[in-house]
Amino acid sequence: MADHKIMPPATLGFIGLGKMGLPMAVRLIEAGYAVRGYDPAQQALDNLVGAGGTACTSAAATAAGAAAVITMLPDGDTVRRVVLDDTDPVGTAMTRGAVLIEMSSSAPLSTRALGERLAGAGIDVVDAPVSGGVKKAVAGTLSIMAGGEPAVIERITGVLDAMGGSMFRTGALGSAHAMKALNNYVSAAGLIAACEAVQIGAAFGLDPELMTDIFNVSTGRNNSTENKLKPFIITEAYNSGFGLALMTKDIGIAVDLAKELARPAPFSQDVVAFARRALEQLGPAADHTEVDRYLKNLAAKAVGEPRASAQTLKS
Ligand code: NAD
Repeated sequence: MADHKIMPPATLGFIGLGKMGLPMAVRLIEAGYAVRGYDPAQQALDNLVGAGGTACTSAAATAAGAAAVITMLPDGDTVRRVVLDDTDPVGTAMTRGAVLIEMSSSAPLSTRALGERLAGAGIDVVDAPVSGGVKKAVAGTLSIMAGGEPAVIERITGVLDAMGGSMFRTGALGSAHAMKALNNYVSAAGLIAACEAVQIGAAFGLDPELMTDIFNVSTGRNNSTENKLKPFIITEAYNSGFGLALMTKDIGIAVDLAKELARPAPFSQDVVAFARRALEQLGPAADHTEVDRYLKNLAAKAVGEPRASAQTLKS
């Protein structure tokens, strides 16, 4: 039984029905799985039921009899609380032989520790974070990274395929979470660079839309120039669906990983320091594309202050 693939109509638990979790759960329902979900937000539960899922009154209640439980929570600390530390922990409610699929963007070493704790209870863990944002979660075309025992990943390929357009096996448990944090560090650096460059260019008289078109056929092209500048940043809509707090957490995981491995990582430290300052000013509800607004605020503050070049000319 333990070697069998988990295919529809198997029962799955889904914990964390936020911007990403809800559309991912809906994809699983559409694929034919029986999905039992939990989130403290009543609206999320109502939306799950509207899509054909079952709402549970606790995280542990999703786990009883489920072949796999998926976590899509803000961070690894929340996952650990829900799975191990709560008064009614999910880890205790899960059936022996079931799989915990940890799809949040979490810290790799905590994920390894979680796997070690659950192994004693006969529960396998796979870290399977995703990339592609809300749009790809809705379309079921997320890019999924998977770390863990190959045989366990094989058992859950049907589940992952229902949510993803591509799946990469990254190695041992925790390796996918490391990959995800490093990806998001690179993505954040590209976002901040793109916003800063567009603002400098606009101040010089360049057209932001034209700049974006030129980046996108030139060597400055990145995911933010292609998918974020026009819809979310130049329009100042700032509603991409990925929170600045989550982006900052992800860069922090990459920086911590470098520290744990005793690797110098000066640029990622600068990027996380920038993101933390922006988060402090913009507040916890800010979208990650609002780093653009933070840069504009900095520029507004600088207006009226004498520019270094002007001073140099006078002296
Ligand atoms: P979100 O804040 O929209 O959703 C998180 C959900 O978890 C919320 O609905 C919240 O009520 C719920 N939650 C919090 N504590 C809980 C608990 N103890 N038990 C049950 N539910 C609880 O966040 P999101 O954007 O959906 O992101 C979820 C994860 O996916 C994060 O780790 C994030 O870094 C990652 N991620 C997000 C995106 C994106 O574009 N939004 C893309 C890739 C990965």
